[in-house]
Formats: sequence, structure tokens, C-alpha cells
Amino acid sequence: MSNFKIIAKDGTARAGVLKTLHGEIETPVYMPVGTQGTVKALTPDDLKELGAQIILGNTYHLNLRPTSELIKKMGGLHKFMGWDGPILTDSGGFQAFSLGAMIEHGIKKVSQVSSVRSQEKNSVIPHLMRNPGEDKSGSQIKSGMTNVKVRKSGKVYDTKNKTIHRHVTVELKPEASKNGLVKITEEGVQFKSHLDGAVHMLTPERSIEIQLNLGVDIVLVLDELISPLHSKSYVAQSLERTHRWELRSLKYYKTRVKKNRENRGMIFGILQGVDDKTIRQLEARWIAKQDFDGVSIGGSFGTSPLWSAPDLMDPRLRGDDVEWASTKSIEQTMGWITPLLPESWPRHALGIGEVVDFFLCIEKGVDMFDCVSPTRRARNGSLYISPKTGGKIKNKFVLNIGNAEFSLDPKPIDPECECYTCKNFTRSYLRHLFMAKELLFFRLASIHNLYFMVNLVKSIRQSIIDKKFKKLKKMWLG
Ligand SMILES: [Zn+2]
Repeated sequence: MSNFKIIAKDGTARAGVLKTLHGEIETPVYMPVGTQGTVKALTPDDLKELGAQIILGNTYHLNLRPTSELIKKMGGLHKFMGWDGPILTDSGGFQAFSLGAMIEHGIKKVSQVSSVRSQEKNSVIPHLMRNPGEDKSGSQIKSGMTNVKVRKSGKVYDTKNKTIHRHVTVELKPEASKNGLVKITEEGVQFKSHLDGAVHMLTPERSIEIQLNLGVDIVLVLDELISPLHSKSYVAQSLERTHRWELRSLKYYKTRVKKNRENRGMIFGILQGVDDKTIRQLEARWIAKQDFDGVSIGGSFGTSPLWSAPDLMDPRLRGDDVEWASTKSIEQTMGWITPLLPESWPRHALGIGEVVDFFLCIEKGVDMFDCVSPTRRARNGSLYISPKTGGKIKNKFVLNIGNAEFSLDPKPIDPECECYTCKNFTRSYLRHLFMAKELLFFRLASIHNLYFMVNLVKSIRQSIIDKKFKKLKKMWLG
């Protein structure tokens, strides 16, 4: 019997209820990301209060530190972190792999929803600000598993977060590429820990074992992250290997669950791919035939010079236009694949979750989102605002609290918002905290940004039930 029930539809947008071991989730849903067993700066009570129903944990990070075995001994991730709601974990492959592709292509960080433009051979990096302050020209930065030398920095479009970030042009130290720090074999992926350099092997079976150790509600299979700069022949090979890994993950999961009568949770397959209709649809048809409980949609979207549809990859596109092309590519991809997926499966857009994405993907029948953007933005002083407060596509629905114009502003961040921060604090005070780098700022800003996103998706859900989705979409996107 399916754990997922659709209770209303408006066009192809769905409102549903997903039953998990730790309670029911109303979908569509935005899941805050708790990378290291914590949603940065917030307590589980904060998360409940702002309306979070489910959070996402990162297998890669939790298994390197403190290790999934330790968490298992401490009673599982729920108990360990004091969160009794549902948890979904990724397979760990994303973090382990992204560095392999980066080394190969000279890219510092490939995001799950990534695309890059090569302005100079082996040089352009969607830099995710892992180490802000360190990427000054000529400096050495430690990036996960490799050291790179920064040659120059500038701005680049970060397709995952759909924002313009600084980019750095790097020179890989010879040993980084020579040593093959990430090795992909049929068996799995071998990588070096970014913490201590120890070599680890992540196989489909080990990934599931780690996630079962954590005792989460929804586990994901191991897949290979495809770089947008991989060739067509590599992509074909990689997708076939991912199929085998997904089936091994599923087999191991079923054996373990049956044998130990543990974790009666769910396992989601992953739909990989690139910006290519034929490939995406073949992948959708393949995954639809497997015995999963749901699907997470990953891969690369958007403006890769190798893959993008010509109309989305106009060389004249720059800045905001590139961003929009990438967003439209996500919408286009969802439109290609969702009609081919089982109606009874919850569909999760991996690592996607900006205001525009919610509307475009939900309209195509996507149910679940996760994205680090709201908490990362919060820490950078970028706070969400609704259309009534001036939020629009062009300003990415954010204001930058560091701007001098807010120094004497007595209004809350968003007068339309009912979060704890907006009910109690002025923009003036928040700007002061931000400028003074006070820790309280991170907490208050994260509360607002997460409340905003969680509740935006809840309002979209209600609009589906009320058959007013298009009206709400128009109100937000124009
Ligand atoms: Zn607020």
C-alpha cells in the first residue's frame, strides 16, 4: 500500500499526504537542510515553530563525523539531534562525487543542479562560498579534498542557488589531479575525507547501511552525479552504472529491512540526467519500472554548453538572463519527466528550492524540495520578502539587510510575515546585528528565511486545494 495519498489536484499540481515513521507530511513541502545533524543556528523547537515538517540530513558529513556507527549507538539520528519529526538523508554520493568531477574538469564545486560556462579552459568555478574570505587572488584555498591556487576572482552565476557569486579562477596543484582523489569504479566511489584525508569507499550497499544506521524515514540510493561538462558517451556509461547502483542499493535495503525488521521507512530512487529530453525521458521510464517508494530528481539542468537546448543557451545571455534560462530549464525538465513517473510516487526535486522553482516545479507535479539557500542566504544578510513588500523575480525575492537604507527602518523584514523575527524585531535592529556580526543575527535571519519558504510552500499547497494555484502563481511571479 502506498504511503502517499494525493488529496487534491489543480491542473498537474498536486497536494498530498505522505506517511512516514515519524508522522505525516503534507505536500508540497520544503525541507530545511540539516547538514551535520543540525539546521544551522536553530533548535528542533525553532523548526517546529516555524512549521518545518521534515528535514534533510547529509550522509557524507554525518558518516565522516561523528560516524553513523556512533549515531546508531546513541539511538539513531532522531534521538541524537533531538528531532522527532521525519528525516530524509541523501546517499552521500553527491559530496563524494562532486569533487571528482571538479578535479577532472578543474571546477571547484559542482552543484547538484549545476551548469558551468567555460570562459577559460579549466578555469571557471561556480564557487559556493565554502571558504569566504580565503579566495583572494594568489591565496591557497583548501577545497574539500584538494588544494587549489587562486589566480583571479570575479563574479559567476551559481546555478544551484541561482545567484551571482564571486568566482575564482584556479590552478589545480599537480598532485591533486595526478593522485585521482576520487575514483569511480563499478564497485562504488573511493574518496578522501575532506576532514583528515582518510580514504573511504562508498558503495551502494555502504550508503544504505549508513542511512539505516542513522535510522531515518526516507533513504536515497547511490547514484553518480553527472557533471554538465561530461561528454555524451561518458553520460551514457554513467547512467547505466547508476542503474546498477540503484538496483544494488534497493536489493541491500530490502534484505536488511527484512532480515533485521528495522526501518520500515521508504527508499527513493534517483532520476539522473542532463539537459536532454531523450535522456531524461529514458531515465524516467526506467525508474518508473523499479520498486521504489518515490523518486528524487537530480542531475544537471540549464546552461551547460554541452547539453543545453539552443534556446536556453544563447551565448548573449548574461547575468540574470542566464539565471532565468537555468530556472526555465528546470521547469522544462520537470515537464518532460513527471508525466512518465508513477502518480503514486512522491517526487522530490534534489537541491532545488528558490521561490520561482517552487511555482514552476509544483505546477509540473513535483512534491518535495530541499535547498540550503534559505539558511545560507540568511547568514549572508539576504532576507526573503513577499511581493507586497517588494519581492519579485528580479530581486530574487530578497532584501539585503546590510544596505544603509535599513539603518533607521522601523518595519519588520516583511510586514506580511508572521515569524518570530518579524513579530519582534525591526530592520534597523537586524541590520545592526548583521553589521556587528552578532550570533543572534544568524538565528533570527534563519528563522525568518525558513519560515518564509516553509510557509510559501504551504500556501501553494492550500492554493492547489482551493483550485487557485494559477492565481497565486500570478501574484508572485506576475
Ligand atoms: Zn519573518
